[in-house]
Amino acid sequence: MEGRSYHMTPEEFRRHGHALIDWLADLSQRIDTLPVVAPVEPGEIAGRLPDHAPAEPEEFAALLRDLDDIVLPGITHWQHPGWFAYFPANASGPSILAELAAAGLGVQGMLWSTSPACTEIEATVVDWLVDLLGLPEHFMMATGPGGGSIQVSASDATHLVHVVARHRATEAGAGTDDLVAYCSQQAHSSVERGARIAGYRHIRTLETDERYALRPDALATAVGADRAAGLVPAIVTSCVGTTGTAAVDPVAAVSALASEHGLWHHVDAAYAGSAMVCPEHRHHQAGVETVDSYTFNPHKWLFTNFDCNVLWWADRRPLNAALSSVPPYLRNAASDSGEVVDYRDWQVPLGRRFRSLKLWWVLRSYGVEGLRHHIAEHVRLAHWLADRVAEHPRLELSAPPSFALTCFHHVAGDTATDDLATAINAVPSVYVTPSSIGGRRYIRVSVGQTWTSEDHVRALWAIIDAAA
Ligand code: PLP
Repeated sequence: MEGRSYHMTPEEFRRHGHALIDWLADLSQRIDTLPVVAPVEPGEIAGRLPDHAPAEPEEFAALLRDLDDIVLPGITHWQHPGWFAYFPANASGPSILAELAAAGLGVQGMLWSTSPACTEIEATVVDWLVDLLGLPEHFMMATGPGGGSIQVSASDATHLVHVVARHRATEAGAGTDDLVAYCSQQAHSSVERGARIAGYRHIRTLETDERYALRPDALATAVGADRAAGLVPAIVTSCVGTTGTAAVDPVAAVSALASEHGLWHHVDAAYAGSAMVCPEHRHHQAGVETVDSYTFNPHKWLFTNFDCNVLWWADRRPLNAALSSVPPYLRNAASDSGEVVDYRDWQVPLGRRFRSLKLWWVLRSYGVEGLRHHIAEHVRLAHWLADRVAEHPRLELSAPPSFALTCFHHVAGDTATDDLATAINAVPSVYVTPSSIGGRRYIRVSVGQTWTSEDHVRALWAIIDAAA
């Protein structure tokens, strides 16, 4: 029809926006009445969608209705207080609202000049976090020579670090095919994957000790053997808070070996980095003053919805040397002045979202005090659960409780452990992760969802106790 506009008018936008916020607020109030895990079969959700995109515009009310009818049944509720699986991916009111604000602003912040607020708020907030997590001052953009930025995920961050370490090593004369990357057998799969994608042909996954932490002697032996074979040890990743049991690699000892042998030392604190807002956990990262890069996920345990990873560099120059390229259409006076940061040089993609807004709003809404309160409470609850397990005649801890992760198994063996996990997960109000470690099946309970309280952990324990 001639002259017809298909756009949502500002008035409709306001009305529908209110309706959507109401829907989301209602969901947060009733989420604990829903099953944690989506009770659908493969293909069921797709089967409810038409075969073609609609020819005619639909009313927004229909879209909202289908949130209930089509989307919700297919949602596994990471924001349910009975979420004890994997690690959390917790969200919060301020974070969700900031995400909406960022979408409304519609910024693409690849350069300082494409939205100065996007870059400057990010640089400031990420500097605040250096202080908040007890990281070394040279990680700060303001006082340098380091700096940090927001990436999509810890996997992305770790991959990028491997790229930069490779560039540094090859610039120094090493052949790409000779480079070696190291991590422990308990490192997250993204470390080995990131190294592989970055072109490392030699990746050593090292033995761990009885607490599932990297053994420095195993690293020293592997580095010695590789050197003797004419290879070039290039990078080692330590993990503060492994995925399996939240074990902590000895950062200081690994740092000492890394500087002795000229290796890049990266720290993956994807999960446990958030705990560093509480000073009582910072001893776990002793030695961080001498690492080359450090990453953690506010999108796991810091009330900032996915995606939001922070990656810091002790020195940003190798990063910029590896990634910088200036096509003519991106040149501008601000960049040429050298006075601004262009975050496109800090990541693989060119374009970037305004993610720092949600981190900023979370930090301001909770304050350091609020973040410490909730993290400490999650840790307390996980240890409370570990104490119950330790007292139980048929259960045993599979590893010491660490941060807010409790791991246990059934004393009768793997089948009993798997049966127990199945019985727990048959209860719609909770969800835990069965896994394997040290040749044994075990169950991971990760406390960290925004709304998880003592009542929820006690309810989970009642289910475990009854099923064990
Ligand atoms: N590193 C560790 C220790 C993790 O536990 C995880 C995910 O659980 C990751 C990295 C990957 O995180 P992301 O999903 O942000 O890539």
